[in-house]
Amino acid sequence: MKNALILLGAPGSGKGTQSNLIADKFNLLTYCMGDIVRSEMSSETDLGKEMKGYITKGDLVPDEVIISMFNDNFNKNDNSNGFISDGFPRTVKQAEFLDNLLKDKGINSLILLMDVKKEKLVERLLARKRFDDTKEVIENRINTYNSEVSLILNYYGTRVIKIDCDGQVDSIFLNILNIINNA
Ligand code: AMP
Repeated sequence: MKNALILLGAPGSGKGTQSNLIADKFNLLTYCMGDIVRSEMSSETDLGKEMKGYITKGDLVPDEVIISMFNDNFNKNDNSNGFISDGFPRTVKQAEFLDNLLKDKGINSLILLMDVKKEKLVERLLARKRFDDTKEVIENRINTYNSEVSLILNYYGTRVIKIDCDGQVDSIFLNILNIINNA
């Protein structure tokens, strides 16, 4: 069976941590869009320079650019055992693209929303100390997320399963495993 696990959630909601745990457990590939953007940025190419402008402000990379980056990564890999998408889609355009791609490839999707209170997000992000985890950038990334998420939730509708992710890593992981096993 081919499956795509799509993790939606604000920066700091634990998508990266949980996707690593799930990927290990089920031997799945992970596409972490934030890491793909950060690694492109450090490559000093024209695309990398363009990425720097967005990431250092906490703004979203335009849809055409990010969709083509996702697609390039996707096409490089054998996705036959399924995959996890962390941080993609973040807009309705990206969600439409991903739905079409999955339909084309005959891959099912399971969409999880990792829900965390804003105070908790800021606390976690400040503790992380990445260059794009400064107070101002964090504020913009969370606001950007909040303005996009309602549209994307509206697009996916009842396909989204919301998980309370304020708690500890282990219990959130168990909760996710439960959902995957019952899907
Ligand atoms: P993250 O670590 O997931 O918060 O991503 C870091 C940065 O990469 C974001 O602030 C955006 O500039 C960019 N980025 C990551 N994923 C996407 C996406 N799906 N669409 C647009 N920009 C993205």
